[in-house]
Amino acid sequence: MNLNDLEVGYDIPALPGMTEDQVQTPCLVLDLDALERNIRKMGEAAQAMGVRHRVHGKMHKSVDVALLQMRLGGACGVCCQKVSEAEAFVRGGVMDVLVSNQVTDPAKIDRLARLCLRGARVIVCVDDLQNVADLAAAAQRHGVVLECLVEMDVGAGRCGVRGSLAVVELAQAIAAAKGLRFSGVQAYQGAMQHLTLFADRKAAIELAVDQVRQAVAALREVRLDCEIVAGAGTGSWPLEAGSGVYNELQCGSYAFMDADYGRVLDQDGRRLDQVWKNALFVLTSVMSHVRADWAVCDAGLKAVAVDSGLPVVFGVAGVEYLKCSDEHGEISDPAGALQINDKLRLVPGHCDPTCNLHDWYVGIRGGRVEAIWPISARGKGY
Ligand code: PLP
Ligand code: MN
Repeated sequence: MNLNDLEVGYDIPALPGMTEDQVQTPCLVLDLDALERNIRKMGEAAQAMGVRHRVHGKMHKSVDVALLQMRLGGACGVCCQKVSEAEAFVRGGVMDVLVSNQVTDPAKIDRLARLCLRGARVIVCVDDLQNVADLAAAAQRHGVVLECLVEMDVGAGRCGVRGSLAVVELAQAIAAAKGLRFSGVQAYQGAMQHLTLFADRKAAIELAVDQVRQAVAALREVRLDCEIVAGAGTGSWPLEAGSGVYNELQCGSYAFMDADYGRVLDQDGRRLDQVWKNALFVLTSVMSHVRADWAVCDAGLKAVAVDSGLPVVFGVAGVEYLKCSDEHGEISDPAGALQINDKLRLVPGHCDPTCNLHDWYVGIRGGRVEAIWPISARGKGY
């Protein structure tokens, strides 16, 4: 794609070389220095603790960001949640992909098997015996090998089997199935990632680690080794990394940060937005300021997800984003600090669903647009 063939405003929010002031809003902006720092820092931490990091690509849905995480952060590959996301990553050159989810629809299973024909390593989670048979049939049909992780429910109460017996039964079925390879277990404890206090998250992860340790030992007794023992998110990764049981992290939000994770505290009582820099912003413009103490900006529900709270205005004291509707954000401005056409950076409450609302990342460094990246798997939920 030649960016210069695109019309700023209609096709794309900005072109390289523009100042931040010239960027069309609302749009997503990445602080490239902050992003690179987050990526390097997590990569170094994982390496120091002797675990791999398979970054969660459902967060950013971007081939460019994933490749940066592999290049700068030493990530071994990506996770994603949907077959369509896996397709976008493989087409973009990310050749080691885990769908950290169940794929059960026959057409989707077929698409997954066909991805291997593009030369990619494809891994998928399983929690059902019939699904093992269906995956194996597709893999044989295409003459490929699909790698499978048995998904354990270690406290989130969502997908996954409970207890070592069920894990071993599924693992043996996978190991016996032509076209499949048993590669290990998926044990993501997602329910506690956003608990504010580290001690509460630690208690939940300790329970998870116990269950995973038992399952790995039970698998070893039947001569099944786990190449991959996977889990962990931005709220818990030091615990899984230090457990001696998990060997592959899957953090997503650390790279961009968001307002909800920012309020979470680490083991030293530091807010996570002090540990990880805010790299993702919704850039918005003030478009109305009729009332002296109330500004209205152009980023509402269609530009920022509010499931985990409203966005927070970044770097301007005394103003607060208090209300949103489809196309409007309402900001209290008691001191009258804002003016029409002022641009503001908003930290979204929740990064993942916010990214899915946009087509482009505008990467900025030193006040200028440096990169424009398509949000490759944006909207791809099938
Ligand atoms: N692994 C899985 C399977 C997930 O679904 C998620 C997010 O929900 C993560 C890891 C970690 O993501 P984050 O670091 O954004 O909390
Ligand atoms: Mn999330």
